[in-house]
Amino acid sequence: MSSYRYRCAACGITWEEVANRRQAEQERERHRSEVHGGGAPDGDGIQANESKPWPGSGAILAGLVLVLLLLYSGRHGQ
Ligand SMILES: [Zn+2]
Repeated sequence: MSSYRYRCAACGITWEEVANRRQAEQERERHRSEVHGGGAPDGDGIQANESKPWPGSGAILAGLVLVLLLLYSGRHGQ
């Protein structure tokens, strides 16, 4: 699950997290038109929280492949 939230640094406001980027963009558009006359304030942006269920799984997989290669070459190298 990813979550997005819009932050306006100029106003010092961070909006509630929403489930998709589209919603965060709508909040951004609304805030920009209501408060900043439709312009983009300095430092505003949408923060994305990408969830990573298996951090480092790429490294573990690479290690596993290396071990298998070593085992394979060990058996056939004698
Ligand atoms: Zn603002």
